[in-house]
Amino acid sequence: MKIAVIGGGPAGMMAAASAAMGGASVLLIEKNNFLGKKLRITGKGRCNITNSAEIQEFINNIPVNGKFMHSAFYAFDNNDITELLKRYGVETKIERGGRIFPVSDNAKDVVDALKKYVKDSGARAIQGTVTEILKTENGFKIKVKEKGNITCDKVILATGGASYPQTGSTGDGYRFAKSLGHEIIPPKPSLVPLVTEGTLANRLMGLSLKNIAIKITDEKGKKVYEDFGEMLFTHYGVSGPVILSASSHLRDFENKNYILSIDLKPALDDEALDKRILRDFEKEQNRDFINSLDALLPQKLIPVIVSLSGIPERKKVRDITRAERLKLVESIKKLTLKIKGTRPVAEAIITSGGINVKEINPKTMESKIVPGLYFAGEIIDVDAYTGGFNLQIAYSTGYLAGENSAKDW
Ligand SMILES: Cc1cc2nc3c(=O)[nH]c(=O)nc-3n(C[C@H](O)[C@H](O)[C@H](O)COP(=O)(O)OP(=O)(O)OC[C@H]3O[C@@H](n4cnc5c(N)ncnc54)[C@H](O)[C@@H]3O)c2cc1C
Repeated sequence: MKIAVIGGGPAGMMAAASAAMGGASVLLIEKNNFLGKKLRITGKGRCNITNSAEIQEFINNIPVNGKFMHSAFYAFDNNDITELLKRYGVETKIERGGRIFPVSDNAKDVVDALKKYVKDSGARAIQGTVTEILKTENGFKIKVKEKGNITCDKVILATGGASYPQTGSTGDGYRFAKSLGHEIIPPKPSLVPLVTEGTLANRLMGLSLKNIAIKITDEKGKKVYEDFGEMLFTHYGVSGPVILSASSHLRDFENKNYILSIDLKPALDDEALDKRILRDFEKEQNRDFINSLDALLPQKLIPVIVSLSGIPERKKVRDITRAERLKLVESIKKLTLKIKGTRPVAEAIITSGGINVKEINPKTMESKIVPGLYFAGEIIDVDAYTGGFNLQIAYSTGYLAGENSAKDW
């Protein structure tokens, strides 16, 4: 049995190794001249390998098509990947929210371990850009730009999504799958910066905020998401960890108007914040209002909050009324921006959409349309929230595709 695996990311590496260990002769074809280019930049170079959660929790962290992942997660779970990495010298640690990282904080160690695993399995990796996949009577013909035609019995498509195309994931696999008769759910960005209306974000560009809380509501005031952590303002809107996480909950820009509300002082409720402001004001009685907030807010935010509070900036602090102070509290606890949409898929951490899961057997990852064709990783229409769940999707589906493709000799 000759199996070609297209794409040398985590899904492709896992698929190639498990097919080779099942006894097949495996060729892993990767467009870059090294494997795991995207994997190397995951988790800001630290690689959030997986999560310590139970399998059901993994499924809960997949907003669409989570159930499709059931068999794959049971076949190869978070313990399997951490044990595998340990065998190759990568010790892991658990951080906030169950996120698992290498103790070394170096994603390259994870890539190197998977590369060794592929090599030890007997799979052969070559550099080559696949340009076309054709079904033949007995198998497949793969056109590789640098190498000519390759024939094989089975194909595992693990070309990733369309995010961060500079890493090689340029969405080629969607085209191949479509030409073989598959439906592609339109790729959309997920875990992506958000574009906001108006000039507020632009005015605050470059400002990074820690320990803030955000809440996103729809036009009816219904809460869609809330979180606590870090964010930053950019020329187009907002980004940073809490914003990226929020974005994967905003799935209906066509029909909904999302509003972002930032609480700049989540540790203090309205009353406590008012007391804190009063204390500051007591020391600043004779100052202009605009010069009285230095201890409370970052410099860049002061003119914005002053103007939102409606209090004249040159008003003396001693003349500020209680009603004005309460408006100031509200401006600090509810800095509001309307969300227009997301940045493009190329800037997203994850592509949602991809091969329609209805056309893939969840127990084997084999196409229900083209026998002998398998899928693994981000190319499939499954995407998760942050926390290491997306990489686990890649290893689990890769493992299942590899194992099953090697089965029926
Ligand atoms: C900046 C960033 C940080 C991330 N951090 C995390 C994290 O910490 N934890 C987490 O769980 N997830 C993270 N992710 C998501 C995670 O990287 C992906 O879910 C994962 O890489 C998907 O694996 P894959 O193997 O399916 O695809 P990819 O990793 O995209 O690999 C696909 C491979 O196929 C190759 N390829 C494509 N077309 C062809 C072709 N025509 N011929 C030959 N080869 C081809 C590509 O070059 C590429 O190497 C992050 C993503 C980004 C962009």
